[in-house]
Amino acid sequence: MSQTEEDLTPLTFVATSDLSAITKGRSMPSALLEPGVTTGWVPANFGIGASGHIADQIPFGSTGDLRLRPDHDSAHVITGVPGRPDTRLILADIVHTDGEPWACCPRTFLRDAVERLESEFGLTVQSAFEHEFMDLDITDDHHPFSWRNFRNAEPIGSQLVTAMERSGLEPETWLPEYGQHQFEVTVSRTDAVASADRAILVRDLVRDVFSAAGHRTSFSPVVVPGGSGNGVHVHFGLSDAEGTNVMFDASRPGRLTELGGRFATGVLRHAPALAAIFAPLTVSYLRLRPHQWSSAGVFLGLHNREALLRLCPTVEIDGQDPEPQLHLEFRGGDIGANPWLLLGALLHAGMEGLRTDAEPAELQVGEVDPSSRGDVAELPRTLAEALDALEQDEVVRGWFAPELVTTYLRIKRIELEEVSKLSETEQCEWYARAY
Ligand code: GLU
Ligand code: MG
Repeated sequence: MSQTEEDLTPLTFVATSDLSAITKGRSMPSALLEPGVTTGWVPANFGIGASGHIADQIPFGSTGDLRLRPDHDSAHVITGVPGRPDTRLILADIVHTDGEPWACCPRTFLRDAVERLESEFGLTVQSAFEHEFMDLDITDDHHPFSWRNFRNAEPIGSQLVTAMERSGLEPETWLPEYGQHQFEVTVSRTDAVASADRAILVRDLVRDVFSAAGHRTSFSPVVVPGGSGNGVHVHFGLSDAEGTNVMFDASRPGRLTELGGRFATGVLRHAPALAAIFAPLTVSYLRLRPHQWSSAGVFLGLHNREALLRLCPTVEIDGQDPEPQLHLEFRGGDIGANPWLLLGALLHAGMEGLRTDAEPAELQVGEVDPSSRGDVAELPRTLAEALDALEQDEVVRGWFAPELVTTYLRIKRIELEEVSKLSETEQCEWYARAY
């Protein structure tokens, strides 16, 4: 790093994202962070839940040491937040003190899945995470997608998009969403690990810019019972070594290749256990209901916003080529999900579909009412059901280090016990504060 850059960003925050998708780590003077420098980490930190307490009965105690090894390719200068200094943030892989990867590192989990997809199937992934959230302090009347609410959110909106651009997060759209005081921000697609890194940075930059303006935000899946949900949708596509989109076949239904359909089958087949990862809060299940445009059932839908997996439309105005555009969107996720684990688990599930020669998932065309459809499975209805499904799905459990699954289930069950004592409204408030 040049002297000037050090002067401008005196601190570098070396970060990971934990099992509750909370960004955490340690900062150090940027000048000290030469290549090869790592910083300390504690295994039991992995057992801290959303409430901020270490869970009991986890495989990690008061002993043991790890290192956060910064991945310098992931460095971003977080800049453009009014009143706050520029700070460098580098995402880290968690390693042992001898440099060996730590089996529970969520970022390594995704990178391993990406490498497996490449080595076993010759495929690469490009992806992008889409975020929705509520401004808890704006008091205007909200009208979805309106110019007036866009303007009422100024100058925060322009500050946010500018900060995202200048911090290298490649924003694509910024808008007032459907729900009361709800907004959405989308970014360009990029390589899988970078896209999950970006998701981590985007949500924290939103919080940063809004709080600098005195506004609290919440990405929690449901902030008020009965209100609109906040999703974290994951768009992803697969290419071969030549960069050809292996999901596109003009001769097939929806133009989705057999390979794309089989990948989808893997995701749908393991959806109940995956729900413990992608919908890991009690209030996640207030969102995953019909007529919320979140995910009403376990199906692959053509352009359908109630599908767990949506085959997205292509734009062909002025002869634009649909081939590189065709991709899938996973709509079940929310802010409680660690982006590395979420995307890594989707890739593992998809590979399972490819590996087992599953039949391509049936593409559902038009409206789908899961309650009247025997062939469309339902998602778990509660967090408790999802955690049990994870515990029982040996295939899904097998993708993760056993200590990760044990710690995850323990953290989540403690959270469930604490939160389920509360009324629905209080649960929403609890998670709105946490997320
Ligand atoms: N708010 C919806 C959700 O909870 C998504 C709406 C949309 O962007 O299609 O996922
Ligand atoms: Mg949206």
